[in-house]
Amino acid sequence: MASRRAAEAAAAWLGALLTAAAAVFFALVLWPGWRPRVEAFFAAFDPVERRLLIALSLASALLSQAFAPCAWQRILRVLSLPGLRGSDARRNWYVTQMGSYIPGKFWMYIGRAAFLGARGAGSARSSAAIALENIYLMVSVCLMALAAIPFTGGAHMPEGVRVALAVSIGATLLALFAPGIRRGLAAILMRRPGGDPGVLPELSLGNQAVIIGFDMLSWTFRGASLFFWFLAAGAGAGREVQMLSVCLLAMPVSWLAALLLVIVPGGIGLRESVQGVLLQEFAGASLAVSATIALSHRIVLIASEGAFAAGALVLEGLWRRHPSMMRQIRQAGRLAASLVRARLFMMGIGSPPPPVNLTFSITRRCQSRCRTCSIWKAPPLDELSLAEIGDIFREIGWTYFFNVSGGEPFLRDDLPGIVGLACRHLDPAVIHIPTNALLPERIEAMTAEMLDIIAREAPGAALTIKPSFDGVGDLHDEIRGVPGNFSRLLDTLERLKDLRERHPELHVGVGTVISRDNAGRLGEIIEFAGRLGVDTYINEIAEEREEFFNLGSGITPDPDTYRTIMLGFKDAALERMRGMKLLGRITTALRIVYYDLVVRIMEESRQVIPCYAGILNAHINADGALWPCAIRAYGSEMGRAGRGGSFSAAWRSGRAREIRRSIMRGECSCPLANQAYSNILMHAPSLLRALRTALFPGGASTRRTRKEGAG
Ligand code: SF4
Repeated sequence: MASRRAAEAAAAWLGALLTAAAAVFFALVLWPGWRPRVEAFFAAFDPVERRLLIALSLASALLSQAFAPCAWQRILRVLSLPGLRGSDARRNWYVTQMGSYIPGKFWMYIGRAAFLGARGAGSARSSAAIALENIYLMVSVCLMALAAIPFTGGAHMPEGVRVALAVSIGATLLALFAPGIRRGLAAILMRRPGGDPGVLPELSLGNQAVIIGFDMLSWTFRGASLFFWFLAAGAGAGREVQMLSVCLLAMPVSWLAALLLVIVPGGIGLRESVQGVLLQEFAGASLAVSATIALSHRIVLIASEGAFAAGALVLEGLWRRHPSMMRQIRQAGRLAASLVRARLFMMGIGSPPPPVNLTFSITRRCQSRCRTCSIWKAPPLDELSLAEIGDIFREIGWTYFFNVSGGEPFLRDDLPGIVGLACRHLDPAVIHIPTNALLPERIEAMTAEMLDIIAREAPGAALTIKPSFDGVGDLHDEIRGVPGNFSRLLDTLERLKDLRERHPELHVGVGTVISRDNAGRLGEIIEFAGRLGVDTYINEIAEEREEFFNLGSGITPDPDTYRTIMLGFKDAALERMRGMKLLGRITTALRIVYYDLVVRIMEESRQVIPCYAGILNAHINADGALWPCAIRAYGSEMGRAGRGGSFSAAWRSGRAREIRRSIMRGECSCPLANQAYSNILMHAPSLLRALRTALFPGGASTRRTRKEGAG
C-alpha cells in the first residue's frame, strides 16, 4: 500500500514537471520560431466578424459538457447503488472532472470513489463503476474515430496515416472486447494491478448502447466545437466538410494518445499537439498555426468545464442550505417534462413517461365492512415483500404523487418501510394515505415514524393522511359496517392534528364517498366537516369499481342528485376561496372544474376530456399487477411489476399499448378524481378555466353549470 502511494506521488510530480517543462520549452524555444507564421496567419483576423462561429464553438463545448456525465449516470443506475440520486451523481461528476487538471489525475477518481462511498457503495462497486466508465469511454472514442476516418479522404491526410490510424484504433477496439484484456484493464482501473478485478456487472446490450451513445454524442459536440473554433480562426475555408471530419477524428484520437502519458494533468499540450498535426493541412500547412489554434481552443473547453463545475458547486450549496425549495424546483421541472412527454405521446411521438401519479394498493385486507366497497369480502392477496417493492420503485425512478391505497394501508406493519422506499427511489412531492381510522394509536405511531423517514429521505415532501368520513355519528358506523367507527375517527383526527403541530409537512384531511346512503344528508356532513379543523375536505362520488368488487351494487347516486350536490359543493368552495392564498385558490379551482366535469361525465357517459390513465397515472395492486386505473383494474392488467415481471416491461408491453389505444378511443369513462386531476392538467381549456376561477372567483358562479344542466 505504502509503495503504491509513493509511486502515485512520484507519478503526480513527474506529470507536473513534464507539464512545466513543456510550457517553458514552448515559451522559450517553440514560440519565438512560430510567432511570425502565427502573426501572419492572424493578420486579418477580426473577432467581431467571427463572433457567430466563436459562439457556436462555445455552445458546442457546453452541449458536449451537458451530455458528458450521462454515461456515468447510466452506469450507476445499472449498478443499482442504494441511496444514490442521478442528479447528485451528475453534480459530483462535474466537480470531480476538474480533478483531471490536478497533477496525478487520481483526484478525479478519488473524488468519485469518495462520493459513492458516502452513499453506501462499497469500494468494489465504486471501482467497478469507474472501470466501466473508462472502458466504455475508450470504446466510444474508438468507434467515433473509426466512423470519422472514411470522411477524411479529401483532407490531404496521407493514405498511410489514415490506414495506420484505422488499424490501430480497430485493434484497440477489438482488444477492448477481448475478455482477458478487458479484465486486465479493469483490474488496473480498479487499482488491483495483477489481481482479480472481481466480477464486473453484466450490462445489457441496450444499456451498453445507451452508454456508448451518450459518450459519442458528447465527443461529437467536442469535435464540432473544435471545428467552429478553427473556422473562426480562418482555417479550412472552402473545405469545411473535410475539416469537420478531421476535427471529429482529432478529438478522440488526441484523447487516446494522451492516455499514453496519463500523468500529464488534463493531457494539456499532448492532445493539442495531435490535433495540430492532424489539422495543419487546413491552417496554411503550418503546424505552428494549427497547434496554436488547438491550444487556444483548450481555453474554450476549460471555460465550459469550469462553468458546469461552478454551476454544480452553486447547486450543491443551494441543496445544502435549502433542500426543500430545491426539491420543489426539481419536482416542478420533472413534472413539466413528463407532461410534455405525455402530450407528445398522445400525438404519436415517443414513448409514455414514467407515471407522475402512482397508486399502490399495498394490501387487500380491511377491517371495515363498507356498503360502498366489498374489497373486504375478497380473499387476501399474496402481497409483495418490502424487497420486491424496493425493486419496483427503483425501476420506476420517480413520481410526483405517490398514493398509497388498500384495503386498509395501516394494516401492513411495514407501511413506514414502504414510504421510506418511495422517498428513496421515487422522490415524490406528495405522499397520500387514506385510512378507515379504526386503529387510532397505530395510525398515530406509524404516521410519526413516516414523518421522521420523510424528513430524512425526502425533506419537503408533503404527507397527507385522509381518514374516511361518510356520515355524522351512527350514519358513519352504519355505512362503514363497524360500530364505534365514528368515535375512533374523531380520536384519530385529534391525534393527527396534534402531530401536525410539530410537523407542518403533515396535512390532515377527511374524505366523504357520496353514495345513495348519505346523499340526502350531505348538508349535515359538510357542515360537520367544516368544524373538524382539517386541512382538506374531499368528496368523491361512490363508484362501481372492479377493484372494489361492487359492480352492479347500485351505490352511485343518479346524475340529477349528483348535480344538485355538486352545485352545493361548488358554492361552498367558491365561498371558501375568497379568503385563500393563490396556491390554495388554484387547488380549489381545480376541484371546482372537477365537479363540473363529473356532472357531464355522469350525464353523457363518455370521457368529456381525454383520459391519461396508463400514461400519466398507473396503479399497482398488492400482488404486483399493473393497471392503468382502479376502474379498469383486473380486466386491464398491463403486466406484472415484480414477481418475475418488471415494471418497464409491463409499462411498454403489447398489452399496455392495446389498453392505451382502447382508452384513447374512449371505450370507457368515469369520474375517478385521482385521474381527473391529471386529465385537467393536460386539457388546456379546463386548465385555463381553473386558473381564471382562481384569479377571479367572483366570475365562476354556479349559474353556468345550472344552465348547462338545464340545456
Ligand atoms: S376513463 Fe376512467 S375507467 Fe377509463 S381509463 Fe380513464 S380512469 Fe380508467
